[in-house]
Amino acid sequence: MTDTKTEAVLETMEFQTEVRKMLDIVIHSLYTDKEIFLRELISNAADALEKARYLEAAGQAEPSGEALEIHIETDEDNHAVTIRDTGVGMTRDEVIENLGTIAHSGARSFLENLGNRDGSDVNLIGQFGVGFYSAFMVAREVRLTSRSVRAAEPVVWESSGDGTYRLGVAGPQPRGTSIRLTLKEKDREYADPFRIREIIRQYSSFVPFPVFLNGERVNTMEALWKENKNDIGEDRYQEFYKYLAEDYQNPLLYHHFSVDAPLSIQSILFCPGENLEQRGLGKLEGGVRI
Ligand code: ADP
Ligand code: MG
Repeated sequence: MTDTKTEAVLETMEFQTEVRKMLDIVIHSLYTDKEIFLRELISNAADALEKARYLEAAGQAEPSGEALEIHIETDEDNHAVTIRDTGVGMTRDEVIENLGTIAHSGARSFLENLGNRDGSDVNLIGQFGVGFYSAFMVAREVRLTSRSVRAAEPVVWESSGDGTYRLGVAGPQPRGTSIRLTLKEKDREYADPFRIREIIRQYSSFVPFPVFLNGERVNTMEALWKENKNDIGEDRYQEFYKYLAEDYQNPLLYHHFSVDAPLSIQSILFCPGENLEQRGLGKLEGGVRI
């Protein structure tokens, strides 16, 4: 709340009980794989861009004049990281509904399921679609500003995940959403651009919109499995495999499998050229990427 101009108009509101419960779990019980917060925020940004693209194509929204992109900025001096998109944005009512209540059923099932588990399975967060709150695993303060395609007045939302949030009118800004996380002391590694780049590479390489880190494009590899196999040359499979597996050798073999019915499945299976387990490196995890 360094910005005193907006502070003056901020109104304090309470999270719905279920959200409070969830935030409490997220903040106090989930310690592993914290870095997935970035995957969740990037995935939300991509969803927002997808909606914007659709509305623009259907003539229901004016093109914003800005490219449909995701920008991540690290601020090591202030231990903060910001994720910004030029997507549909949210109105004040949408912010209250989407971030202050559990409207979608995924979040409810998350809470119900946690009742039967020890609470350490952080992957459930993404699975059940309560992704936004994962920001509070690493952030002591989250500040979101957003301007919706449907409203001229930008909104600001901020919270430290402690049961309340503050809401108000933000200063002028382009269409879309910007989320600034001020990191907890022990999570300051997420303001390090090298760490962030590594996480993007691991979890968000194939997001269907350009992702920039401090102004530089980071996701340059296409989702090869979605392309028609007749259009793909051997060298592209090899290059793709090497990128994914961080291997310097070509794969021993690969199989590109696509069907449309009864289910739509697009996949590529790669078999490495060398069995590293045989070299005494212990058991390696399989790596499914989607
Ligand atoms: P999910 O993505 O499964 O719906 P989340 O907790 O990740 O659940 O996000 C909750 C909701 O908040 C989203 O459905 C969306 O309506 C809204 N939201 C989150 N991030 C953004 C964003 N960057 N732009 C617009 N809306 C967003
Ligand atoms: Mg999400």
